[in-house]
Amino acid sequence: MKQILVISGKGGTGKTVLTGALAALAENKVMADCDVDAADLHLLLKPDIKERHEFRSGKTAKIDKKLCEKCGKCLAVCRFDAVSQDFDIDPISCEGCAFCSFVCPQGAIKMQENISGEWFISDTRFGPMVHAKLGIAQENSGKLVSLVRKQAKELAEKNNCSLVIIDGAPGIGCPVIASLSGIDCALVVTEPTISGLHDADRVIKVAKHFGVFTKLVINKYDLNLDMSKRIERYCDNNEVRLIGKIGFDKSIVEAMVEGKTIIEYQKGKASEQISNLWVRLQEELG
Ligand code: SF4
Ligand code: SF4
Repeated sequence: MKQILVISGKGGTGKTVLTGALAALAENKVMADCDVDAADLHLLLKPDIKERHEFRSGKTAKIDKKLCEKCGKCLAVCRFDAVSQDFDIDPISCEGCAFCSFVCPQGAIKMQENISGEWFISDTRFGPMVHAKLGIAQENSGKLVSLVRKQAKELAEKNNCSLVIIDGAPGIGCPVIASLSGIDCALVVTEPTISGLHDADRVIKVAKHFGVFTKLVINKYDLNLDMSKRIERYCDNNEVRLIGKIGFDKSIVEAMVEGKTIIEYQKGKASEQISNLWVRLQEELG
């Protein structure tokens, strides 16, 4: 089984458009949305949720008012000002360090696991999908990404699928690093701008650091042909395979408005360019 990850150095490069198109083109696969902080693949694939699970991560202190004798020790030691004058704990401010629970002479403070989000197994018109939603102001998105990836891999093995296609998070942070382990190929999507090249270079370096083979896709390449040439030279000089160039195509926006992938929409040049990219990618993955 192969695992393909679609990433970008920054948001808004067309990563999810490409992932959705690959979902439409590939057969016998499981989809995974690992952009858990701002998941949007579901908008294109419209999953029908079959399983819903809680994601638990981190702990928050809770005071048992029946045991508390209002000695004020917890208030004094909390560096995050999470304990109020009435000895209530603000769950947003609490960092879960547990110091208060150690100093409380009454044993009145317990550390409770947080429910930080949810993860789902769904059916889509292109097959099964594992996705998640991190709660507002919750941390540990890397842990949730690892969970989504594990579930997607297990689902693929159970269903005898030959492929997992993963929509990764933008940037180079913890969720991206969690997305990269064990990947067969990372497809980096960029745009022909200086910042696009800079951000792509950063994420390619991160992928290389973790021993992941990267291929580059230039989206909207024809909006700045000089910059696209510069990105091509970058690829030559850095042993990065440029696997495809997608032209600016208003059909992509029209398809999104209709809630379709560009492959289903079947209009414009981008559909054919992505289909050709997919053929090349399959050949190279073997
Ligand atoms: S340390 Fe314990 S007993 Fe003292 S105020 Fe805090 S919760 Fe109450
Ligand atoms: S667990 Fe740490 S951060 Fe939370 S209330 Fe206790 S001392 Fe403050």
